[in-house]
Amino acid sequence: MKLKKILITLLIMGAFHSSYAENTGKLCFASSGEVDAAIVTRVMKHVEKYAQLATEQKVALDAAADLEALLKEHTKDAHDSVGLIVLAKLSGEDETHSLVSESNKVMVINVGAFAIDDAEKEGRRIERLVMRGLGTFLGMGSCPNPHCALFEYKGLKQLDSMGRNYCPPHMMEGFKALDKAGIKRLKPAPPQPKK
Ligand SMILES: [Zn+2]
Repeated sequence: MKLKKILITLLIMGAFHSSYAENTGKLCFASSGEVDAAIVTRVMKHVEKYAQLATEQKVALDAAADLEALLKEHTKDAHDSVGLIVLAKLSGEDETHSLVSESNKVMVINVGAFAIDDAEKEGRRIERLVMRGLGTFLGMGSCPNPHCALFEYKGLKQLDSMGRNYCPPHMMEGFKALDKAGIKRLKPAPPQPKK
């Protein structure tokens, strides 16, 4: 009787394990329109370093007119990864910074809305947005700490003063979420950058 119980437990665990195995365990990136390849590489490295999560680059897509249409396009299919982040240079006028579908684990970022004549500053802005998207995929809400990438910023000035990583509690929460999903983490990185 007892053995039967153990066997059933093992079977259930096995079922959970195989569903996790289907997850590629990576955060996917795609670009839409004329997005600088250096920006894509940069944010992928950032995620690998600070979120300890492997990334994968998907194909480059044609430019979309607006963010809403782009999100719609990408939420049609289910994803077998941690999530998909689409960096977009839109062909139309759209001031929206980003849109996210929590249930589909898709985020679209309007790279053009963060453009500034300072590549470093621009790159940092996108890094913060990407970390926000990943946070959402991992089930983390917003954070009251202005040094956390999950802080609800209002405007670019606030965004520029935010951290590019999570606050320590959110960092731990993120790692735990990855561990719980059976996703192998990359090597730990040094402490978070100041800005
Ligand atoms: Zn936080």
